[in-house]
Amino acid sequence: MIDEEQVVEALSQVMDPELRRSIVELGMVREVDTEAQRVKVTIALTVPNCPLRDQIAQDAREAVEALDAGLEVEIALTSMTEDERDRMRKTLQAQSRQSTLPAGNLNRIKTVIAVMSGKGGVGKSTVAAMLAIGLRRQGHRVGVLDSDITGPSIPKLFGVQTAPSMSPLGIMPPQTSLGIKIMSINLMLEDEDQAVIWRGPMIANAINQFWNDVFWGDLDTLIVDMPPGTSDAAITVMQNLPVTGIVLVTSPQDLAGMVVRKAAHMAEHLDIPLVGVVENMSYAVCPHCGEHYTLFGKGDTRTMAEALNTHFLGEIGIDPQMATLGDHGAIEAYKNDDFADLTQIVAEMVTKAPAPQFAGEQG
Ligand code: ADP
Repeated sequence: MIDEEQVVEALSQVMDPELRRSIVELGMVREVDTEAQRVKVTIALTVPNCPLRDQIAQDAREAVEALDAGLEVEIALTSMTEDERDRMRKTLQAQSRQSTLPAGNLNRIKTVIAVMSGKGGVGKSTVAAMLAIGLRRQGHRVGVLDSDITGPSIPKLFGVQTAPSMSPLGIMPPQTSLGIKIMSINLMLEDEDQAVIWRGPMIANAINQFWNDVFWGDLDTLIVDMPPGTSDAAITVMQNLPVTGIVLVTSPQDLAGMVVRKAAHMAEHLDIPLVGVVENMSYAVCPHCGEHYTLFGKGDTRTMAEALNTHFLGEIGIDPQMATLGDHGAIEAYKNDDFADLTQIVAEMVTKAPAPQFAGEQG
């Protein structure tokens, strides 16, 4: 005869796949009834329509059935009460405070790549979006944090208008069609054309919140679309987020990349490695004869990258199709080999990066 204690012990091996904690530890096992060869387990899910409900139920069933082949197992699913959720949140928060996780929360983010430019309008957001898309197409789990608070364009490029939802675990970022998680101040505004006229500290707060209070979950890469230039907001990101590397975006007419060099020096002071430099809007292709034109003269980005002792990540041509798709929120439909080197180098960084630690997992 199986008793409740044995059932609970078996269930303590069942993990919530997203939170990586046992369902017993999370307080999800609400009731266990045993009667002769029958076992009924009631599991309270964190949210009613938890997408992992079937998997959790099946894992729980298998764990209990493994106790005795002759058992008749019933798994009933319900959802947590506010009090239960509160308790779970407190347990998780207490555990994450004890951890050495840079995020200080429940996220496990392997690499953080900041995309920066010297000034606005050189295509920084477009490059950030295309990098996210390139990595996602290779199967990476990707998020994009739009830290360009006063000029946010990530939701528009991806055609996402869904407001982030609140869950017991934090703010849930909406996902694009390809499954890229995104967070931007624009998703919080009632009208996306509304201007954000915040001052420095509020901007810094918003950026910190996007890092600390958003449930990104498990990501291979979080791409941060940086505010242009070397503003306070850019410094906030570099100081407060564990940035793995910086991608600099420039254009041939960008004053020989003077501002980019400034950004590179700032990164050096803060001890953040450069991934490399991308030159956007390098050329245009004649739609009739296919000839490449360098409209702004030949940029010297490659030489600049060498001087900065970093990679030259390629030239990206001016392509009206990319601008049109971006304007229509359909950037994910765009394909262009100009982004291949950039994507490849970042993908290699991700492969080499150590697996991130999750609160309570070390030791
Ligand atoms: P930033 O983030 O540097 O301010 P954006 O990525 O928002 O710049 O780009 C500014 C504008 O230029 C957008 O309308 C975008 O579609 C367009 N754009 C950027 N790069 C290209 C390109 N290579 N070809 C065509 N249009 C581009």
